[in-house]
Amino acid sequence: MQARALNPEENFIESEPYYEITGDEIAIFEAAYQNKLPVLLKGPTGCGKTRFMEYMAWRLKRPLITVSCHDDLTASDLVGRFLVKGGETVWVDGPLARSVRAGAICYLDEIVEARKDTMVVIHPLADDRRALPMEKLGTLLEANQEFCLAISYNPGYQSVLKDLKQSTRQRFVALEFDYPTQELERKIIASESGIAPDLAEKLVKFAHMTRNLKGSGLEEGASTRLLVHAGKLIKSGVSPVSACRSAIAQAITDDSEMLAAVQELSSSLF
Ligand code: ADP
Repeated sequence: MQARALNPEENFIESEPYYEITGDEIAIFEAAYQNKLPVLLKGPTGCGKTRFMEYMAWRLKRPLITVSCHDDLTASDLVGRFLVKGGETVWVDGPLARSVRAGAICYLDEIVEARKDTMVVIHPLADDRRALPMEKLGTLLEANQEFCLAISYNPGYQSVLKDLKQSTRQRFVALEFDYPTQELERKIIASESGIAPDLAEKLVKFAHMTRNLKGSGLEEGASTRLLVHAGKLIKSGVSPVSACRSAIAQAITDDSEMLAAVQELSSSLF
């Protein structure tokens, strides 16, 4: 499975992903791509950033390599490393090096989660140099014409440690993402889960109630992703109140009082 995820040739998106346009994001991304400028997608989790990247990769006919960054992710995980295979030491490119060579779109999701040394390798790629330093090989890999770097970042998690430095952010064209408008979100939920529009609308209302609790006990409100999950459970026969509890309330909080409060909100709607 890992080999598949790393092989750009196998990461072309063949059929058009379902994506509802929310503003001028497509035109801006295309212009950035043509000008070889890297792109930063800002916004809360579950609001459509990954889906947008899939859509753009399909539209631009480039393979998409997505790396979900985590606090153990090092520069070597992205660039590559020497591995011993059958008694021989061989170099194995990491996902970023493969994307740079193959002219893929490399999407580093939640970049601030990664270890600090990863920024060192993306900086020369994200400016005019467009080259990846391969320290262990002692070489600088020049990016293929078609290569595109995109990163995502959730500004909602306010923490000095999880902040994107100016030296990094000022290299990127930034696209701001947020939860879709009420009308659009209803359409997305109905389309993704197959539930009736009136139920989808209630889920959107419920989401707005939880989003209003952000900062007063909740770190984040319910994302579009969670609403789609709840919609799918409902479509499979789970009652709306149970679906809201399992797919939404339990996903956004562990606090028992908050859980009860969120639960009450869904019972008032369904
Ligand atoms: P993010 O990458 O921002 O965490 P995703 O792109 O994974 O979030 O979005 C979560 C889900 O929400 C998607 O799988 C899709 O079902 C739905 N979604 C959100 N925004 C859109 C959109 N604009 N068009 C279509 N589906 C969307």
